[in-house]
Amino acid sequence: MMNRNYIFLAVLILSACQSKTKVDLVIKNATILDIQEGTLSESRFVIINADTIMEVGDGSMMEKYHPARELDIDGNYLMPGLWDNHVHFGGAEYIDENEQLLPLYLAFGVTTVRDAAGDISLEVLKWRDEINAGDRIGPDILTSGPKLEGIESIWPGDLEVGTEHELDEALDSLDKLKVDFIKITDNTLEPQLFLKAVQKATARGYSVSGHIPAELTLDQVSKAGQKTVEHLSYLLRATTPHEAEISKGRAEGTLSGANAAELQSNTFDEAVTLKNFQQLAKQGTAVVPTLLISYNIAYLDENDFANDTILDYLGPQLKESYQWRIQRMAGENEATKQARKQAFETVSNLIPLVKKSGMKIIAGTDAGYLNTYDFPGLAIHLELQKLVEYGLTPQEALIASVINGPGYFNFREFGSVQQGKAANLIVLSKNPLEDISATLSIEGVVKDGKVYTRSDLDSMLAEIKSWVSAKEERLP
Ligand SMILES: [Zn+2]
Repeated sequence: MMNRNYIFLAVLILSACQSKTKVDLVIKNATILDIQEGTLSESRFVIINADTIMEVGDGSMMEKYHPARELDIDGNYLMPGLWDNHVHFGGAEYIDENEQLLPLYLAFGVTTVRDAAGDISLEVLKWRDEINAGDRIGPDILTSGPKLEGIESIWPGDLEVGTEHELDEALDSLDKLKVDFIKITDNTLEPQLFLKAVQKATARGYSVSGHIPAELTLDQVSKAGQKTVEHLSYLLRATTPHEAEISKGRAEGTLSGANAAELQSNTFDEAVTLKNFQQLAKQGTAVVPTLLISYNIAYLDENDFANDTILDYLGPQLKESYQWRIQRMAGENEATKQARKQAFETVSNLIPLVKKSGMKIIAGTDAGYLNTYDFPGLAIHLELQKLVEYGLTPQEALIASVINGPGYFNFREFGSVQQGKAANLIVLSKNPLEDISATLSIEGVVKDGKVYTRSDLDSMLAEIKSWVSAKEERLP
């Protein structure tokens, strides 16, 4: 039989519980990294409900909340999940292998990818919606859908336009697909139509990304509204006082590609470069350098990836797609190889000038099919290391991924571990503000409020690996 005191105590506990707000998760004892400020705060508690951070404070907050799950990370570092802002899903013959990349990205702490077009857009859009609905595990996907190109472009899956009317129709179809941004490239797209495409897509409210046609100046494309230049090498065009003359020569056919490149490199002018980059910055044009893929290609003969353990997690046909470039480059002579390395160094050494100009740098990798040894998931970590190697601080490299990525879309709910932000987080055992390679010290991932511990992530990786070996056995 209960005595009075016991009943009183029971009521007290019950009422205390009832007055507490039920939440899904508390992350205890976190050292939170403020990437924007480059600072850290210790012994933080993070209250998460559904996919959102409800409150960040000290242990006394536990008086207010009743979390369904407690995750004590014991002083480890907590920061926003990584964004790889330039990836490709593609390869219509191995959609299943692309599907396996979704848990792979998550296992590497990538909670958002920006997919810059391929040939399996409808599947990517479906995966995006399933992930958003909580029906599939993977990073948030922001996709351009099929990219805009000219007639008979070399890439399968493009929306090919030859007239302004076709351009309008193409944009209508992208509206219907509910794509997240617009990607435009210039393989066969007529330069004036390229400019129109940038203007019209921008007018419809899209952020626009793309390459830069040889016949146009960077300033023309930027003024038309293009928000990113994909691949740093295009910025070389703006390093000479003769940029306008060169693009005109290319448009009129009086200047070959080789002659244009020669004139450009012979007339490099640092002051002009800085002024031009400052102008692009002022107009809101950022750059996605994709250093890693350029590095992989330039130094293909010096690096041996053939036995890299990451290959165990990539499907056989996706890996096979790496071969086209390897074979194409196999017969190259020493001079060509050296020239490619030199070109890579020249381009990458623009990073300090880009930084000085105030142009935003957005970290993306080009990871995915075809892009040789640019391993999905791992790639963004290596890209951040490359950005640091060529002049960014670790903090600036992290900003390029987790702050400038969402900034491109004007999203406000990402970029920091604060009240109201998305519960897309990574737990690290080492501090990446001190050493950028610490982004690989992943102890856990939180995606949409759901916790994946290190052992959960290892199980996901093991599952991908066994899926890959099963497919490898099945293939002839
Ligand atoms: Zn790309």
